[in-house]
Amino acid sequence: MAKAASPARPVLPSVDRLLRHASVEGLSSVHGRPLVTDAVREVLDTARWALKDDKGAAPGEEELLRRIEVRVADVLRPSLVPVFNLTGTVLHTNLGRAALPQEALDAVIAVSGGASNLEYDLDTGRRGDRDDHIEEVICRLTGAEAATVVNNNAAAVLLVLNTLAMRKEVPVSRGQLIEIGGAFRIPDIMKRAGCKLCEVGTTNRTHLKDFEAAIGPSTALLMAVHTSNYEVQGFTAEVPEDKLADLAHRHDLPCVVDLGSGTLIDLEAFGLPHEPTPAEAIASGADLVTFSGDKLLGGPQAGIIVGRKDLVAKVRKNPLKRALRLDKMTIAALATVFRLYLDPDRLTERMPALRSLTRSPDEIRALAERLQPRLADAVGDGFTVCIDDCHSQIGSGALPVDLLPSAALTVRPDTGRRGAGRALKRLATAFRQLPQPVIGRIQNDAFSLDLRCLEDEAAFVDQLRHLSVK
Ligand SMILES: *Cc1c(COP(=O)(O)O)cnc(C)c1O
Repeated sequence: MAKAASPARPVLPSVDRLLRHASVEGLSSVHGRPLVTDAVREVLDTARWALKDDKGAAPGEEELLRRIEVRVADVLRPSLVPVFNLTGTVLHTNLGRAALPQEALDAVIAVSGGASNLEYDLDTGRRGDRDDHIEEVICRLTGAEAATVVNNNAAAVLLVLNTLAMRKEVPVSRGQLIEIGGAFRIPDIMKRAGCKLCEVGTTNRTHLKDFEAAIGPSTALLMAVHTSNYEVQGFTAEVPEDKLADLAHRHDLPCVVDLGSGTLIDLEAFGLPHEPTPAEAIASGADLVTFSGDKLLGGPQAGIIVGRKDLVAKVRKNPLKRALRLDKMTIAALATVFRLYLDPDRLTERMPALRSLTRSPDEIRALAERLQPRLADAVGDGFTVCIDDCHSQIGSGALPVDLLPSAALTVRPDTGRRGAGRALKRLATAFRQLPQPVIGRIQNDAFSLDLRCLEDEAAFVDQLRHLSVK
């Protein structure tokens, strides 16, 4: 190692010498020797390369010690951290979608630190099934005969198609061949599931007779995809699900509905637009329904498959189910979230996602009024902080055309439009660099913080003193 540096110019201390330094020994005793030794080597390597490039004098020992400390801290700093989602999109896929209720977090902690009866039947002492912890409550809430759960809704769709339609044809309306953010495309999933997509109808209009004409000897099932993230307007027609189910049953085929953002409750009761529920899909004749755990349901990432007992049993037997199964942490959280739905009256109080979605514009505005002077103080001279009306989105592909009235704190550079772009980027960066990063949006020549999802006002205010707009 020592050979790497020129023996004629021993400008940098050796690894051993640095490791024996009191401050480095201190680091080792706290963080362990391997990590600190690596950090020492990396810091020396970097310094050696800089010297080779002839970038001035070698750093002194003080400086090297400082770099070692920074390096160790960098390696240990978690990459995945909590942030404030002030983007105005409540169920933001890039920001982790639904915030879990406290009850679900408690359940995760309770079963994760030790052994649990994950696949063990406490009554008989025999092997159990992880679905046992969750199937009954899902069936109670959806009216389905049976239910199973997998890693996410994309997995649910993949698994259902692979189980029921491998090497067979699946007719789907051209108007429903959707792409969901993050590269989930129905045609691609079909291919990977081993089935042949049979496009039916046109982009804007599909009729029952189109489906009828597409049904042949190798048709496996009929499928409807809830086009949750866009809306076709104007001269349009889709086949209603009950008609599609009827047609499927007349041909002895199952009808599968991918709901996407399934909600268990009537959102209209909370002043939100209607979104179809699994119970409605089943009532209109669907044999299997799939939906996400972390969209409107407000739970952890998961895919839920509900419907006919014989079909769910087939899905469970598919070897892919083993590859897509849920971990105990997710099962604990998901089962808890479903149980909270048994008491609909307390949902908005207990479920953070629903609480954010139903928060009143007046309450959000009052929050904005309290925060405005604090924020103005924190950003300092050169910026103006206002309270603007805005609209939040539900997000995660749900109900994209329905916007929720909200209030935002908007920060505008006093420079006028010239140079505003750079000032706004600096502002956004400064907010991202806070101890708990604040994620806003740049729009209309302003940095905008929609306060709909801000729950911990005190924590937000407290860290503003760290804000440094350079
Ligand atoms: C969101 C969505 C999916 C994918 O669900 P994930 O849980 O994100 O995997 C599939 N289909 C539809 C219609 C969706 O809206």
